[in-house]
Amino acid sequence: MPDYVIPPPIQAAVPVVGGGSFPVRRIYCVGRNYAEHAREMGHDPDRELPFFFTKPADAVLTGGADMPYPSMTADLHHEMELVVALQSGGTDISEADAMRHVWGYAAGLDMTRRDLQGEAKKAGRPWDMAKGFDHSVPISDLVAAHGVAPGRIELRVNGVVRQSSDVAKLIWSVPETIAYLSKLVRLEAGDLVFTGTPEGVAAVQRGDLLEGTVDGVGSVRVRIV
Ligand code: MN
Repeated sequence: MPDYVIPPPIQAAVPVVGGGSFPVRRIYCVGRNYAEHAREMGHDPDRELPFFFTKPADAVLTGGADMPYPSMTADLHHEMELVVALQSGGTDISEADAMRHVWGYAAGLDMTRRDLQGEAKKAGRPWDMAKGFDHSVPISDLVAAHGVAPGRIELRVNGVVRQSSDVAKLIWSVPETIAYLSKLVRLEAGDLVFTGTPEGVAAVQRGDLLEGTVDGVGSVRVRIV
């Protein structure tokens, strides 16, 4: 046991379907990975390489817990996403090799202070406070990848469909994303990768109930309070 001068932080983790939990090391997120979402944000999806940002591991919100409406925003947006959980990692992973690093999947929400993100984009500043705030990562329990084929992705707010697409429409597939990301950083067991959101992002209010599903994977449920 190292001679820590304060108690070590608690390990962030996500429950696993059927028992146990998955320890979270880092959370990587892909920007603009569905063509229609790139267009709704004012970009041309045919002209961009994938790009990434991160969220803190301890921003995960699990077990259907309520999400407190965050401070310093008046425009909190939902982004419904397929999440990939890695059981191993490396650098310069090939596309052909990428899937053997995947432990499982989850349905997750990349919650975003859209107003702060807009200001950051305009000023050429980092997105951290727009994306990486406390409780900004509501996520379902993880399901082991074996035999799972993620399909339709959908988000309902108060029972009304807001986002509806299919993981097949990802611009950069899961293996392509893992391969490209592993050129930028060394991936490790415990890393989560949010693969990007389809079109239909919009604001939520206190009291709203968000229910997101990825067919074959599971559902994330969170109330904004
Ligand atoms: Mn996102």
